Amino acid sequence: MTQSTRPTPPQGPDTPEPVTCATCAACCCRLEVLLLSDTGVPRRYIATDPWGRRVMARLDDGWCAALDRDTLLCRIYDRRPWLCREYAEGGDDCLIERGCLGAED
Ligand code: SF4
Ligand code: SF4
Repeated sequence: MTQSTRPTPPQGPDTPEPVTCATCAACCCRLEVLLLSDTGVPRRYIATDPWGRRVMARLDDGWCAALDRDTLLCRIYDRRPWLCREYAEGGDDCLIERGCLGAED
């Protein structure tokens, strides 16, 4: 999931746009993120879902409460949940999320 920094990837006239968090509107940060282990997520970003599970809180716009809305960077990158760490940039789930939100042409 979304990086701690957003470097600009190399581009050229014949270079297809790479699948990278640097060019993504943090699509996967709208998914429900279960907290499966203690990585130090601040309590203010933790909610309880209807089944009583601890999850990342989301705001009314649908994105994770820990996402910086201006930079689209994770504000708790070093303490992000295990599921966020395992989410593969460019992986199948990532591509699905980007397509669902119109990030893919
Ligand atoms: S959907 Fe993929 S490219 Fe976008 S922020 Fe998540 S991991 Fe990065
Ligand atoms: S904790 Fe960070 S990486 Fe995980 S969903 Fe929230 S903003 Fe995205």
